[in-house]
Amino acid sequence: MPEGPEIRRARDELAEVLFDREVQQISFAFARLKPFEPLLTGQTIVSIESRGKAMLIGFSNGYTLYSHNQLYGRWMIVPVKQYPQISRQLRLAIHGNEYSALLYSASEIEVLDEQQLLVQPYLQKLGLELLAPETSEDDVYQRLNQACYARRNLMNLLQDQSVLSGMGNYLCCEALHASGIHPQSKPGDLTDRQIKRLARNCLGLSRLSYQTRGITNSQKKVAQLKRQGVAFEDYRFQVYRRAGQTCYQCGELIVKGKYAGRMGYICPSCQSLFNK
Ligand SMILES: [Zn+2]
Repeated sequence: MPEGPEIRRARDELAEVLFDREVQQISFAFARLKPFEPLLTGQTIVSIESRGKAMLIGFSNGYTLYSHNQLYGRWMIVPVKQYPQISRQLRLAIHGNEYSALLYSASEIEVLDEQQLLVQPYLQKLGLELLAPETSEDDVYQRLNQACYARRNLMNLLQDQSVLSGMGNYLCCEALHASGIHPQSKPGDLTDRQIKRLARNCLGLSRLSYQTRGITNSQKKVAQLKRQGVAFEDYRFQVYRRAGQTCYQCGELIVKGKYAGRMGYICPSCQSLFNK
């Protein structure tokens, strides 16, 4: 499932072809959205924003197109009306003069006016946005340090979009490993220094992944693995999807397991429950 950095990159790609452009035609697959087609045609796209795992496209008449891709949704950009040969269901097509933005398979699509946007349930409950430029390490630290989260497993807490918005499974596994913290630890078990380190890695790895198109491994290691001819999927992570391979930090074998109900990857040596 795409996480914050992937959604943010999809947002950048959409912005490149849609921002400040006039909509020549728009079509929705869902009958309930058809009445919006004439309302949005001819409008200019004035904003494109990703929040958590949602995409928000703003139109000059004040309407906002909200979409959440869940597990399977996918945006594609193609030369205008050059539909790709794929078996997915087309749910939304926005046609400009040169390009079409096509949304496949997503089921959560809404058109909202300004008032409805303010009370949209998913957006309302979103927590601290990790990829927002104004978010600081201290903001993340303060959030993780809130008393109400002290007894929650980090494997769940870090992926709870109402706490931190933008982390899913891979970023969570990578940030915990980089911090030397076991996924079943709770903020209340950690030292202040550990929580600060975790906050730094949650923010730093989210931003790094956004900038590098999905890499959370160290630059040095990536360069070394690339020289050996290793493929992208095999050099991008420190622990995620690396079960049975050695930890780059300590040489121990990475294991895959279920932590607080979620599948994850850890180095049992770097991430002992008793590390301080
Ligand atoms: Zn290790």
